[in-house]
Amino acid sequence: MDRSFHVEHKQETLANCPLCGSPETRVSLTLHDHSISHEDFSTHDCDGCGFRFTNPRPTPSAIGDYYKDSNYISHNSSGKGFLEHLYRIARKRALRRKAALIREYVGDGRALDIGCGTGEFLAQLMSRGFQVTGIEPDLGARERAISNFSIPVFPALEQIPAQEQFRVITLWHALEHVPDPKGTFKTLYALLEPGGLLVIAVPDRESWDRSYYNSYWAAWDVPRHLSHFRRMDVHRLIHEHGFEILDTRRMPLDAFYIALLSEGYRGSHAIWRYPKAMAIGLWSNLSSFLSNRPTSSTLFIAKKPNR
Ligand SMILES: [Zn+2]
Repeated sequence: MDRSFHVEHKQETLANCPLCGSPETRVSLTLHDHSISHEDFSTHDCDGCGFRFTNPRPTPSAIGDYYKDSNYISHNSSGKGFLEHLYRIARKRALRRKAALIREYVGDGRALDIGCGTGEFLAQLMSRGFQVTGIEPDLGARERAISNFSIPVFPALEQIPAQEQFRVITLWHALEHVPDPKGTFKTLYALLEPGGLLVIAVPDRESWDRSYYNSYWAAWDVPRHLSHFRRMDVHRLIHEHGFEILDTRRMPLDAFYIALLSEGYRGSHAIWRYPKAMAIGLWSNLSSFLSNRPTSSTLFIAKKPNR
């Protein structure tokens, strides 16, 4: 645990729902940050639209401290533990599948990945003929993406020049981290060329593994996750900002990784952690296929209309 967490971190409290603006919100959950700060955070549910968000939350200037840990392995490719090893194998396969998915819709062109981490997904797209740009707030990850793959990476979306246009924009587990989802959607619309593709993956709080793990569900990931989406929330954001939905898909791989982390947070013995995570991941996916319930994460594919 980082000793810096004994100092007070600046927080902000939202008086209104970030999606519909309603002032009628109420505390829904108290969640623990199991991975970095070990502090508690609450979520609010909006009475108007049902959206759930972390509230209060660290200010934009304080949130960086909640990412500063070598265990935050989404951005770390040098860990040596068994979990990190498994994670890297799964991630490599997932990266190839993601790049292939983009090629189903778009052959080439300019691609922007928001929350690009150390740049592996963009490198996959580059090898398939795309010109790529990344956004990554974390300095260490950003420097690695630039030095490993010579990719242009900016720290924030606002730093992309307004006249830039992309054929593809991807947010793989990034939208839940942004403080202003509606403002981000407006910027995405402006940055996409007409007919351009928008791809978004987020954890889904209506999945079976979420109800099984409850407050131990690793994909709550407070306070780094500021929004806790359901399919209907993302569909509404997509429609309200002028995009057309092309497809909504399951993401079966995520359940295993989330279950493994959740077992750790619940204190499962190391011997049982892996077989249990495997069983829970399988069951979560099976229940999704049998009952049309979402998987642990959901993938949204949308397009900006042609002029
Ligand atoms: Zn609302």
